[in-house]
Amino acid sequence: MPDPRFLKPWHGIPREQINWHPTVDEDRCIGCATCVTGCNRLVYRYDFEREKSIVYDPLNCLVGCTTCHNTCPVDAISFPPFEVVFDLEKRVDEHHAIEDDLFKRKDILAYKEAKPVKKSEVAVREKEHRDDVTILQLELDTDVRPGRYFELSPVDKNWLGRSYSVANVPAHDGYVEFHIKKVPGGRFSEFVYNHVEIGDKLLAKGPFGSFICDSPKNRKLFFVALGVGLAPLIGMIQEALLQDPNRDITLFWGVSRSKDFYCIDKIDELSQKYKNFKTILVAKEYDVAFKFPKHGEFLKKRSLGAFIEGLYDNKHDYYIAGPFGALETFKNVLIQKGVDKNHIFTEI
Ligand code: SF4
Ligand code: SF4
Repeated sequence: MPDPRFLKPWHGIPREQINWHPTVDEDRCIGCATCVTGCNRLVYRYDFEREKSIVYDPLNCLVGCTTCHNTCPVDAISFPPFEVVFDLEKRVDEHHAIEDDLFKRKDILAYKEAKPVKKSEVAVREKEHRDDVTILQLELDTDVRPGRYFELSPVDKNWLGRSYSVANVPAHDGYVEFHIKKVPGGRFSEFVYNHVEIGDKLLAKGPFGSFICDSPKNRKLFFVALGVGLAPLIGMIQEALLQDPNRDITLFWGVSRSKDFYCIDKIDELSQKYKNFKTILVAKEYDVAFKFPKHGEFLKKRSLGAFIEGLYDNKHDYYIAGPFGALETFKNVLIQKGVDKNHIFTEI
């Protein structure tokens, strides 16, 4: 019988719904019992007749734990792929359960010697909806570089900060711009989309991060934006063009549907103004109503497929931003095409 102490939901997800437990290869097992005695969750029993370990209560196993696999001397214990856990971690309900649990046990879990981080309550200066992306300008007087990020949260809620990149070129002109995509069920992005008004205050911590465009001036620049990953890159592009209006810059922007080109007017404006700024806009589907800008190349494909077909060289520095899982994939495409990894910079 599984032990009820170990059957509690895992970050809000019922334990029975999670396929995570060890499997023993009996042919390999030499019966040393390291796993049986080492697991304090009583997942195992020992067959004293055959001198083999038996997985007896698989649901007692701690999700994500692989201690018995690591300590088995003959590699007889296997687990499902870690993607089982990673897929759970992508669920917004899991994030919210962790967040709520953290604040519920703040007295115990808070690191009391924590160094203070710069934070301020800042007012919303402008807010605009572009489909499901909120373009938010906050009254922050700074010259932070585009690509660095702030953690934003409501002033009066027990929520962790969500990270958003600086998407403009602040120059102590009183504001910083962020692009916040509405995640279905995501409590902060929906809060911003539905409830935050001009003049409201948000808590901003930062700036953090080191993803900035510091390529030598003689190098060409190639930006790869995936979805709302455009945010840090549009800031970097504007910064580079302000420094040198003739800089050779290419932007590859891949989205699912043309309606996701939430900032197409800005891109078109830059294309018209700067003759060496080229764009490759890629969407799997183009809506009938989509107005194609006068400039640039348009491809109707999946972003990765279109990117693989491109030509790349070592005269460019490459900057990639977008969903975490995609960054390595796109970076590897460049490496396979012969680009030196020292010329590739990713958001994370
Ligand atoms: S640690 Fe490995 S070899 Fe030892 S009993 Fe467990 S499965 Fe068998
Ligand atoms: S992974 Fe950890 S909890 Fe699960 S059976 Fe092995 S030692 Fe026990």
